[in-house]
Parts: sequence; C-alpha cells; structure tokens
Amino acid sequence: MDKITSFTINHLELLPGIYVSRKDLAGDAVITTFDLRMTRPNFEPVINTGELHTMEHLGATFLRNHKTFGSKILYFGPMGCRTGFYLLLSGDYSSRDIISLVSELYEFIRDFEGEVPGAAARDCGNYLDMNLPMAKYMAGKFLDEVLYGIDDKHLIYPEN
Ligand SMILES: [Zn+2]
Repeated sequence: MDKITSFTINHLELLPGIYVSRKDLAGDAVITTFDLRMTRPNFEPVINTGELHTMEHLGATFLRNHKTFGSKILYFGPMGCRTGFYLLLSGDYSSRDIISLVSELYEFIRDFEGEVPGAAARDCGNYLDMNLPMAKYMAGKFLDEVLYGIDDKHLIYPEN
C-alpha cells in the first residue's frame, strides 16, 4: 500500500505551528485539513490524554459556535500521536487565514472556567478522562510560544 501524505512529512524537522495538511475535493467543494501541531514531535513530551480530551471538548464547542467559521467546521479532533489536532474546514484556505481563529480557540481554552461541555457519562465515552488545569496550561503555552508572533517556519511544512 502507498504511504499516505501525512506520513511523508519529515517529523524530525517539524516545529509546532499551523499547517495545511491536505486539500481534498468532495464533489465541487474544497475541504482544507489543518495540522494544529502543539508540541515538537519526538523532541518534547506528547500531550496527556486528559488534557487532550478536554481541549477536544472545549475546542469543538468553541469552533462550532463561532460566528464566522461555525458553519464551515467539519471536524476537530486529536492526532493519534498526541502532538496536536486536525481541523477540517469547508473551503480553500491557507494557514495564515486561520491564525486569528486558532488564537481565539486557544484563548478560549486557556481562559475557560467551569464545567467542561459534554463531560458527562451520557454525553461522552470516557468522561472521567479530563484535565482542565493542564488543558489551560497547554493552551497558554502554545499561544505564548507559537501563536503570538507566528512566522513562516511555523506556518509552512519543512522541505523533505
Ligand atoms: Zn469525550
């Protein structure tokens, strides 16, 4: 079987950032898949499942309620390697187009107080696996170290 595109990125050179992972056509519509890479692969510890899961619940809630982008959100969820998230948008976008959206998303998580949406047995398959304080910490770290003042090294995939 062919190696799929996302396995051809050189993960040893990949920095945290916002990247266009791929673009697909569904009928005539373009779907842009973004790689929201929060930690540097194979150099930094990966994100633990509790905070990853908390960020998923908060992130999906924020994105689907967003005034401008809400109707374009197709999917938001964690990578299996636990170094970040995939975000799928309906439309043809560059990584620069969503810097403000992604910054708002992580500010929402960093500043969130209260009950995590959907963190109940009826609503989720593993509702006890949550860690809001660490989710807030990771979101703040990503904002401070990567998103505020982001440049091309964190917006365009490295050459292979
Ligand atoms: Zn859940």
